[in-house]
Amino acid sequence: MDITKLLLATLGMQPEQVTIESYELEEEKLSATLVVRQRRESCRCPDCNEPIYGVKQWRKRTLWGAPLGALLRFKIVLLQLQGACGRCLKHRLSKAEFIHPAFKQMTTAFAEVTGRWMEETTIAAVERMTGCPGMSLWRLDQWRTAQMKKRFELPTDLPMRFASADEVHMRTVKPVEARADRSTWKRKFITNLVSCDLAKVISNASGRSSRSLQSCLKQIPEEIRNGIKFIAVDMHDGFIKAAEKLCPNANVTVDRFHVVQNLHHAFDGLRKGEYEKAKAANDKFQIDMLRPSKKYIMVARKRDLSKSDQRHFEKLIQVNQNINSALILIEYFHSVLDKTDVKSFREGLALWEDLVKASGLSQFEKFLATVKKHQPRIEAYISSKLTTAISEGINNKIKVLKRVGYTYTNETSFKNKILQRCGFINSHNIDTTGWFWHVPIPH
Ligand SMILES: [Zn+2]
Repeated sequence: MDITKLLLATLGMQPEQVTIESYELEEEKLSATLVVRQRRESCRCPDCNEPIYGVKQWRKRTLWGAPLGALLRFKIVLLQLQGACGRCLKHRLSKAEFIHPAFKQMTTAFAEVTGRWMEETTIAAVERMTGCPGMSLWRLDQWRTAQMKKRFELPTDLPMRFASADEVHMRTVKPVEARADRSTWKRKFITNLVSCDLAKVISNASGRSSRSLQSCLKQIPEEIRNGIKFIAVDMHDGFIKAAEKLCPNANVTVDRFHVVQNLHHAFDGLRKGEYEKAKAANDKFQIDMLRPSKKYIMVARKRDLSKSDQRHFEKLIQVNQNINSALILIEYFHSVLDKTDVKSFREGLALWEDLVKASGLSQFEKFLATVKKHQPRIEAYISSKLTTAISEGINNKIKVLKRVGYTYTNETSFKNKILQRCGFINSHNIDTTGWFWHVPIPH
């Protein structure tokens, strides 16, 4: 085998198009620069494919080459021929198939390799490894994802008997005026539709309204929509309406995750009230225990707490009757949700209702009203025996995306990233090699 050809192909260049002129190694940086020149006999016009004759100039162009072996960074200096085309009657730059059509400072191989890396890890990590500026990588990642999204079609036999819809918080837009009132902050959300059978995000849309979920559902073929047996949503009326409208054969359910979310919200409302009371009474112990940063003590499993946290917790429930009652209510409600049939769920809920009324805690009475309103859908959840592990897992994955530096300000880019990481829009599900260009494979 010709080692030069192998080297060129491994770097992502068509060996019949270029010859190596020189190279330079920077050992400490594990990087190399390779100067290559186009072969006169293979130079062709990019528009009409006629041979190019004459030499107007050799245009110097620096390209990112694919990482090769021990060398993580490979810079390619290409001497590209500009000459005359007999058909176009113009001077043309000879075409080079290995230059990426949309990112002219990259070889197609570099774009494909780093593009696949960015499906798995952060752009910042790829920037550190390759030295390529993050902004270029970011644009490449967006471009690839958008191309894949455009070309990908969901198979009509996609398994989706169990679906779930959920919103994730994207970002909060603070008004420009200093110290603006928190109520004027705009919270932006994205709604994701998940196939629980596959544990993948199938589609998504901006916002968290009825229209958002309708838009998600309309992106999937009608055959799939009609095959959905259960669709879990949160307790927003908008989602319920959208699901009932567009999934004619589905039981709309409210899953445990969302019920418990609301329960914790009720508890937090109570904690805030007690915190204010403690401040008014200047009760130092309770002010300390009820502050927002100590919330975890009350919701954590007791065996996970440190010895001193446990002691403080015991003291708190002795001195604060409302907090004590609320914690008992929460524990009991969990046991009601553990029921595996509708009959015992109803019995448990009836008992719990009495406890809530006896407690006189308004936040829990409000939560009870919500539960009663959604009771048929919670019962559908109990009988579906669906776990919430999948939607919780996906939500956690999305939160990680947000944390590791995908603080996307642009909704489309964040939606695409979710579909790439948690769905089908990636090279595991789509053959990107053959779609946009030819990446030479050495053989
Ligand atoms: Zn031409």
